[in-house]
Amino acid sequence: MVEWDETERAWMLALQTYETARKCPVCGMDITFCHDQEKVHRAFKGADVETCFVGEMREQAMRRFADSGEVKAPNSQTTKLNMRNG
Ligand SMILES: [Zn+2]
Repeated sequence: MVEWDETERAWMLALQTYETARKCPVCGMDITFCHDQEKVHRAFKGADVETCFVGEMREQAMRRFADSGEVKAPNSQTTKLNMRNG
């Protein structure tokens, strides 16, 4: 039996993720739905504006980070939520 090395395992995981990821990076829905204008318009008549307060918290963190120094990879940096103690 041939064991995969770490690089091969990472490559297979990336391939599996690529092949099974049918979620839209913009809206999080299945791309067979949200990339089909007719299906979307048949299901929804429009949208209302709401605020995701987790997203707002993340935006504020990124803004503080950007204002405080050098941003090396603005499209690759992310945030981590910090739990309140107690
Ligand atoms: Zn989408």
